Amino acid sequence: MIAKQQKKLKQGMLDNVMRQFNYSADNINLNPNIRKILSITNNELVVHFPVKMDNGDVEVFTGYRVQHNNALGPYKGGLRYHPTVDIDAARALAMWMTWKTSLAGLPYGGAKGGIQLDPSKYSQAELERITRRFTYALGDNIGPELDIPAPDVNTNPQTMAWILDTYMSTKAPSERSKNMHVVTGKPVGAGGSEGRDRATGYGVFLSIKFWAENKKVSLKDKKYIVQGFGNVGYWTSHFLENEGAILVGVQDASGSIINENGISVEDLYKHTMQHKGAVAGFNDATPILNENFFGINCDICVPAALGNQITANNADSIKAFLIAEGANGPTDVEAEKILLEKGVAIIPDILCNSGGVIGSYYEWLQNRNGEIWQLDEVLEKMHKKLKESFNKVMKTALEKDIDMRTAAFNIAIERLEQAYVQRGIFP
Ligand code: GLU
Repeated sequence: MIAKQQKKLKQGMLDNVMRQFNYSADNINLNPNIRKILSITNNELVVHFPVKMDNGDVEVFTGYRVQHNNALGPYKGGLRYHPTVDIDAARALAMWMTWKTSLAGLPYGGAKGGIQLDPSKYSQAELERITRRFTYALGDNIGPELDIPAPDVNTNPQTMAWILDTYMSTKAPSERSKNMHVVTGKPVGAGGSEGRDRATGYGVFLSIKFWAENKKVSLKDKKYIVQGFGNVGYWTSHFLENEGAILVGVQDASGSIINENGISVEDLYKHTMQHKGAVAGFNDATPILNENFFGINCDICVPAALGNQITANNADSIKAFLIAEGANGPTDVEAEKILLEKGVAIIPDILCNSGGVIGSYYEWLQNRNGEIWQLDEVLEKMHKKLKESFNKVMKTALEKDIDMRTAAFNIAIERLEQAYVQRGIFP
């Protein structure tokens, strides 16, 4: 049953991103030759590699890195450790990265990858060996000016530090320090940037704030729910709480909880730190059935976990007037139709969660230029950059009378179209 569900989820993501792309391509009357190029990924790497487990046995893992497009700069995107990772999931997520970096005006293309595994089943030492051996298997298919991984679902600054150390160790001593920017999202002490930890959540929060300002809505006392309480879910909630909004429901892989009077973000965070990241069992909330989560009475809904979570099965039950997509591809095309019909606004993933890759860009720039920036400097730059993207999307949506996702895709794809038209096709 689970295997069947997971298969549907993965196929759904590729189908979803292709439908979003084609819809926008029709809308802007995209040059048919460029449509052909952007419809397919440039390179796809699948690696099988052995790792010694703590008990002495060897396990063989399958890792992926899909490079969708690099017309605007080096491939960029996260590495995810999850049972749903496979070639189609990596393709879909790589494509979303291309649109995201293009929309944000960054000098990057799009890539994504990861390993098909459930990290909760492995010790920290095993995860280190798995990560190092995966990095070794990727070899020179990644690189600071070629393809730059970053954290994603179930990977974190520690994972990035292992990748950096392994990658550097394969280089000649005189070359090593030139490779600091082969990954972003590193710990601050190991070449990471101040602010990268909160960058995605800060960006989700800013997108919500900009939207609210645009609609002249105050965030104070607005009720919100969050799916996923990892890096993105936690930081988004942290900033929303500071603004006076009230967290009323949270769902993660361990279950769903509700408290209409408000859940303290920091208390819940402390609970998750003591319970392997899980929200279940938090004492100041009541458990509810997972299938009732999206129907919780609230104003704002933040899906910040996996793809295809909001579907035709639950879209009708959503009470929120705004969906802010912290995850990649959380709303499928059918659900989006239902929601737009109901008048629900959706801040699309490629805009809403772009703070992460924008933060990565600043880390990469600092490494490349031998600079170290302060936290407020990073957050200020992020604010400016996100505001520019947000305004562009709102303006396009208004002018063409289209939804925010189509507007965001249009801007992203037109930038790529222009690059191809100006450069032409080799030879
Ligand atoms: N994994 C994040 C995303 O989906 C960040 C990617 C990056 O920083 O390269 O956008």
